[in-house]
Amino acid sequence: MPPPVARLPRNSAGRPVPGNITWYEPDDNGATLVTRDSEKGAHITCPCTPGSGTPRFGEQCPVRQRQFMTQRQCGLCTQGIRPTDQLVFIGETNAQYYLEPPLHPLCAAYALQVCPVLHASGERIEVALTHSYTLAEDRITGVSADGTMRRSVFAFGDPVAHHLAVLEFYLAFPDTPERRTGPKWLGQRAPRLLP
Ligand SMILES: [Zn+2]
Ligand SMILES: [Zn+2]
Repeated sequence: MPPPVARLPRNSAGRPVPGNITWYEPDDNGATLVTRDSEKGAHITCPCTPGSGTPRFGEQCPVRQRQFMTQRQCGLCTQGIRPTDQLVFIGETNAQYYLEPPLHPLCAAYALQVCPVLHASGERIEVALTHSYTLAEDRITGVSADGTMRRSVFAFGDPVAHHLAVLEFYLAFPDTPERRTGPKWLGQRAPRLLP
């Protein structure tokens, strides 16, 4: 386990909880909180604190997701990724964009080996290796009669979007990525975790 991952808060089973995961306090009613500022326009916010309450794996905190995407911080260990370093996105085969923040190569290798969902997906999981990425905005434009959210993608910082829709997440489009299946990358190129 990479040392910064070992320092993350744990769930009740003792598993380190990735930095981008949402935590719920016992009294949380699950309401979606919308606020507004001049930088992002209308956006979803979240009061959760890592290590406080219960984490919900698979659910990203919009506040930390946006912070990690814009600050080039690792979605697992939360540490910054140097501008000159290669980074890794994990997703479906040939994904054009990613909703999960970038990862250090070492953290990506660790996640592929221990995350049950990623592990079970095998060849259907691909890593995209790149040094840089471009952001776009995933905004909620409305709610259908059946309660599902309608969403649209806007350019990063589009001032018109501030008034039209509520920002939830940033989407990362990797610049000229090199793609490998998860197992192949782990077998050939991934950094080795020291025993
Ligand atoms: Zn949160
Ligand atoms: Zn990391």
